[in-house]
Amino acid sequence: MSTLNEVGERDAWRCWLGDEPVDPDAYVNADRSPSVDSGASPKGKKAAAGTERLAHRACNTRKGAVKPIVAWSPELFVVEPAPIVSTVERLTRKGDREVVARCPSRRDAEQAAVWLLDRLSRFAPELAVTAQVEAGGGQFLLVLRAV
Ligand SMILES: [Zn+2]
Repeated sequence: MSTLNEVGERDAWRCWLGDEPVDPDAYVNADRSPSVDSGASPKGKKAAAGTERLAHRACNTRKGAVKPIVAWSPELFVVEPAPIVSTVERLTRKGDREVVARCPSRRDAEQAAVWLLDRLSRFAPELAVTAQVEAGGGQFLLVLRAV
């Protein structure tokens, strides 16, 4: 078990699920107050020691049976975006590559790629992936590849 301060420092006081800042001094019972999320990993299993993450009290997956959900930014133009948590879980387990979204233009796909790699650098810092844009069928595919 790490202390709240240790986990908070490691995650730079940012919620691992909502990707928004966490105020270390928020009132302790507030929804937005900091908490250690130790009951969920991307695999949905009990997290091993050292994989505790910082979450808002209201976002903390320990509180319910639901699998953690990481949302795509609403500012992206993506069609059929893949669920981020299970994509990370598969790429961690099997490697290889996955199509994670379709985009109407190359520029949309490139913006989504930049956003996704930045998001994953905090959500799953242990996962090494590259993002590629592939043209196909009049659309542009965003592909993640484990390296
Ligand atoms: Zn949160």
